[in-house]
This record gives sequence, C-alpha cells and structure tokens, in this order.
Amino acid sequence: MRHIAIVGSGPAGYYTAEAALKQWKDDVRVDIFDSSPVPFGLIRTGVAPDHQSIKSVARRYETTALSDNVHFVGNVMVGRDISIDELRDLYDAVVLATGAPNDRKLGLPGEDLPNVFGSAAFVGWYNGHPQFAEIHPDFSHDTAVIVGNGNVALDVARILAKSGEEFEGSDIVAHALSALEGAHIRRIVILGRRGPHQVTMTPKELGELARLARACPRVDPADLPPLAQDAALDAGMRKTMGHLRSFAMAGGSANDNADEGADEGATIVCPDRDIAIEFDFFAAPRAILGTDRVEGVEVERTRLVDGKAVGTGETYHIPAGIVIACIGYQTSRIPDVPYDEQGGRFANVEGRIKPGLYCVGWARRGPTGTIGTNRPDGFAIVERIDADLGPAGGTGKPGRPGFEALAETRGIDFVKFTEWQKIDEAEVANARHGAPREKFVEVDRMIAKAHPSVQDS
Ligand code: NAP
Repeated sequence: MRHIAIVGSGPAGYYTAEAALKQWKDDVRVDIFDSSPVPFGLIRTGVAPDHQSIKSVARRYETTALSDNVHFVGNVMVGRDISIDELRDLYDAVVLATGAPNDRKLGLPGEDLPNVFGSAAFVGWYNGHPQFAEIHPDFSHDTAVIVGNGNVALDVARILAKSGEEFEGSDIVAHALSALEGAHIRRIVILGRRGPHQVTMTPKELGELARLARACPRVDPADLPPLAQDAALDAGMRKTMGHLRSFAMAGGSANDNADEGADEGATIVCPDRDIAIEFDFFAAPRAILGTDRVEGVEVERTRLVDGKAVGTGETYHIPAGIVIACIGYQTSRIPDVPYDEQGGRFANVEGRIKPGLYCVGWARRGPTGTIGTNRPDGFAIVERIDADLGPAGGTGKPGRPGFEALAETRGIDFVKFTEWQKIDEAEVANARHGAPREKFVEVDRMIAKAHPSVQDS
C-alpha cells in the first residue's frame, strides 16, 4: 500500500490524486490537505466569477474526491499545524500542490499606498477569499490603472467594467457586487511595458472585452506592428492580434480636452459607451503617486530592444484612484522546504525537492499555463513517485491513521469532504436569484457549517 499526501486541493492537487488512482488503483490511499476548510483552490478563489464554465471542472475533481481511497483534509495548515517532516514520516510521498497565492511586487515607490492592490488580493476580494474580504477597494475616482498584459489583467478589467446585470449567473460575492455597482470608474488603463506582440492574453478572454454592455476596448493604431509581421506568430497569438487590431479599428476619437501635460498619449474616448478600456502599450510604471492614497501613476514610454522593454526617458502621469498590479504570483514558503527565490516557487528538479517530497503545478513551474496544463503535470509527478518507490510500492509508513492519531493529540479540527458538502449546500441555499452560490467569506462561518455540533457545544 502506498500512502500519498497532497498539500493543496486546487487543480494541481486533484489532477495528481486522479493520476495516483489511475496508476495504483486500490493500492493507494491519498490524503489531500488544504489550509482552507473548502476545496478547489484557484477554481474557487482565482477563476473569474463570471467564468462559470471554467469553474465547472470542479465536478471532475469531485469524482476523484468521492473515491473511497481519497480523503480531503481541510482546515490544516502544513508548516503550522503539522510540519513537512512530520508529513514525510507519515506518508510515502508528500506532493506540494500549493499554487502561487502571493502577489509579486512591482518594487516601485508608492506601491504601499492605500488603494494599490496586487491581483491576488483584488481577485481574492471579488471571489470571496477570506484573507482579502476586508480590503475595501475604493472606486470613487473615475480612472483605474491595471499593470500587466496577461489574462489576469483582462479578468480584472472586465470585472471593473461590467454592470450589475452582467454579473447575472456569476458567483461574485455580495460585498464585491455591491461595491462595483456603486463604482464611478469610467476609464480603465491597461499598462503593458512591452508591445502587442508580447502580450500573454489569450484570444477568447480578449474577445470578451468587445462584448461588454457599457465599455469598449481601445488600442492606439500607432502601437500596432505592421500586419505582415503577424504571419510569424502562432495561431493563438494571430487571433489575439486580430482582436487588438479590431479594437484599434473600432476607433474612438482623440480627446482634445485632456489636461495639457497630464497624459501625453491621445486619450481615447468611447463615443457610445460609458467606460473606456484603453490599452497603453510600451508603457512601464515607474512610481505610484500620491500622499495619503494613490492619486496616479508615473509612466515611462519604452521601446523594445532584443525583446526587452527599455525606457526612452519620456515620462507622463496618469491620474488614477485605484491601481491593480497583475504581474504574476509567488508560491508561499513552507519551513524546511528549499525555495527558488528567483522563480518564486519551490526549488526542484522535475518536481523532486528531496527524498519523499515533490511539487507540482504552479508550486513547481511558476504561475504559467491554463488549468488543464496541471493535468499532465500531475500524471508526470505520479510516474516519478512510482519510479522512486520502486516495485515494492509503500515503505510501511502509517498514512491516514497516523495523521488522525496526531490530529487527535494536537487538537487539529480538520474538515472532511462530506463536511465541505454541508458548507456547499448552505452556500447554494444562500445564493441570490440566478447565482450558483453565495460564498461564505469568513472561515468561522464555514467551520460552523462543517462542524455544527462543535460550534454549539
Ligand atoms: P502573465 O500572463 O505572466 O502576465 C503577467 C504580465 O505582467 C506580463 O504582461 C508581464 O510583462 C507583466 N509584468 C511583470 N512584471 C512587471 C513589472 N514589474 N512591470 C510591468 N509589467 C510587469 O500572468 P497572469 O496574467 O498573472 O496570469 C497567470 C497565469 O494564469 C497565466 O498562465 C494565465 O494565462 C492564467 N490565467 C488564465 C485565465 C483564463 O484562461 N481565463 C485567466 C486568468 C489567468 P512581460 O511580459 O513584459 O514580463
């Protein structure tokens, strides 16, 4: 018998569990730990609330979760409630599938001013992540600046631009919906330090900006490379460029009323919509401006040299009341696990960290790829574990009974999958009209649903 502990119940964790079941069938027991009382990680707190079709992948994880040989162990923080070495003593293999939940920093002056957020915090806020439920973004200014040219920047721009009605059918949490409905934002500037050919936005997500009820995307035609250069791109990037070119053709007119010296680029306005989503390419943020709160962004115009953004010395200011940096993520450290500072993930060689300890998904390779990318990753790590354990399989470690004995002595109040289902039921029952659920945003309320008798006693 093999006993496997997976730390993290997001896509990488569940695909690894699925692979373990396929590989070892009835000769494996898998425990999936999570610091949260609720499973599915990024599916719940990262994927945009208006992308329900992407979230439906959780149903596949449920099939794995309900297998007799797989157990969810929620509300257990590895590194605090139980150490990595204790887990390694209990299980034949420990796989860290902890993702990359922390924001990378811009490293700019003014970054810590109120109303400047990283995307982990901002996305966590509108998705009901308990850690970020209280960040209270202020949307009273008419301009928001988003830094970054990836899919997260697109998610954030779309969420800021949508009307209340456009969130129908989504599971955006009530506190975010109400704050966004009262927002005064009319201009969303997306800063890319490089050019259109260097974006990491995917065509489907970019195309959604063209279908918003009250916002229109705008690209300055002067930023686009000659059409012939698109031929060298892969098919996906050519589609992405098709969208950016159509945003440029859709027009808008230069705003002659722009304050002199405030924003050197032509300010593009939407003639028939309330909100402009402006792509500002070749634009690197250099400072976040403001005294008591953010008042704007100082930007330096760039040009590409060997694919890198190099400042031209030309600077301008964008007045703005909120800044959201969507520039990537880092894995959380765990005591006694070697960390790759540069990559912001665990130090590993093809997923191996040290004997009996592995990593997978974003914790292994950094925050790249789609949810589906984690599936082959999960299957690959199981093959490596199989090779390392050899034909004998298990090493005689106790696995789950050992953990349960330790949890008992330590008073660890863990949440099982069937108990998560009680939280799930309550969230579905609390949903506003048309929404799939209303998430609990406080851990205590989740635990109260999972362990009602403990709370009552
Ligand atoms: P990303 O695709 O790596 O984009 C990060 C962006 O930040 C890049 O444009 C990068 O520019 C820029 N950047 C980094 N450091 C910067 C700095 N100091 N100053 C200015 N700009 C900076 O990451 P992401 O958008 O966070 O997405 C993470 C992953 O999740 C991606 O694989 C993404 O596709 C995936 N995702 C998918 C979906 C979906 O499929 N619907 C939704 C959300 C996220 P450079 O290129 O110049 O470095």
